[in-house]
Amino acid sequence: MTKPADNMRVNGARLWDSLQEMATTGPGLRGGCNRQTLTDADASGRALLKSWGEAAGMTLGVDKLGTMFFTRPGTDAGALPVYVGSHLDTQPTGGRYDGVLGVLGALEVVRSLDDLGIRTRHPIVVVNWANEEGARFAPAMLASGVFAGVHSLDYAYSRQDLDGKTYGDELLRIGWRGDEEVGARKMHAYFEYHIEQGPILEAAGREIGVVTHCQGLWWLEFTLTGREAHTGSTPMDMRVNAGLAMARILELVQKVAMDNQPDAVGGVGQVKVSPNSRNVLPGSVVFTVDIRSPEQDKLDRMRAIIEAEALKLCAALGVGCAVEVVGHFDPVTFDPTLVARVRAVAERLGYSHMNIVSGAGHDACWASKVAPATMIMCPCEGGLSHNEDERITPEWAAAGADVLLHAVLEIAEIVA
Ligand SMILES: [Zn+2]
Repeated sequence: MTKPADNMRVNGARLWDSLQEMATTGPGLRGGCNRQTLTDADASGRALLKSWGEAAGMTLGVDKLGTMFFTRPGTDAGALPVYVGSHLDTQPTGGRYDGVLGVLGALEVVRSLDDLGIRTRHPIVVVNWANEEGARFAPAMLASGVFAGVHSLDYAYSRQDLDGKTYGDELLRIGWRGDEEVGARKMHAYFEYHIEQGPILEAAGREIGVVTHCQGLWWLEFTLTGREAHTGSTPMDMRVNAGLAMARILELVQKVAMDNQPDAVGGVGQVKVSPNSRNVLPGSVVFTVDIRSPEQDKLDRMRAIIEAEALKLCAALGVGCAVEVVGHFDPVTFDPTLVARVRAVAERLGYSHMNIVSGAGHDACWASKVAPATMIMCPCEGGLSHNEDERITPEWAAAGADVLLHAVLEIAEIVA
């Protein structure tokens, strides 16, 4: 196998120009983007990508959920393609780079190979997954989830937005329902390039995040039952205080997360206290514990400890405690061979790098169920994402795309 020359680089200026041009489809109100799934803005973004993909000589296939696949042929008709991509859809007040960098970074890889006249044995496929964000149609990573067999096609079609419009109807309306069976394609490997969406790389002064894992999570909904009573006239020893039990469980979650450092987090973001009156002890408190870790054992141990200890804390106060699982993802370990390749490429090209765990879900998490997969991350300013003020630098964008180019080439195999 021929090795790519170490001085080979993508055209960073062209990548940056394309990112800014894509941002004009579905512009936000404050400089970001509002290109939500299956809106007219989504259709505009898709049309622009289609024109670029075809200008690069690629053929477009679209599956029944609207995911776009652009193929650059390889020299070996029997070789499975290397897939590279992410998503063009955004949050309602999203940034210019979340997802888009991964799609246009993949396009830039192909454009660079064309410039250099390089052929590969394996085909290269640029992917724009439909509905990664899940902002308009929950859940997130919907099309890649169906692709990986996690959800059914009918489930995806039946998802509704707040106006009651379904995914299936809106996909037809914007004219992007293709005829390919979802998940029929087979992948040799899958790469996804994405902004970090957190502050770690920037704070550490590293250009490249070598993504080793994606966090798994449990969402545990606690329902605590006490006894409503007057806060002034009820003696302390006669209270059944569901609010106090909640406070002790919040401390417990903090302690369990700290006991499982590094790479574990836990917290409570949503609380409903009833009757929520300043002079009534709450009779009922419902809240959701969110715990995450990239390690399955650790994640499950944290859950077991929290549930067992919470029951004891509540029993000591005479408070009833019921726990229901309302969300779960298994942690993902990305393919060690691909991860090592990405790290070696960053090293060889002279980019500073570090291992990183993705705190958010990505299409790569589902793709990893059907193919060797991994991700490359670049920093984002202040860790800000899902925000119109999301920012990266042209240099960061290009550095990650360079690593993507070389990593893809090694797996797709240069033909001399
Ligand atoms: Zn994203």
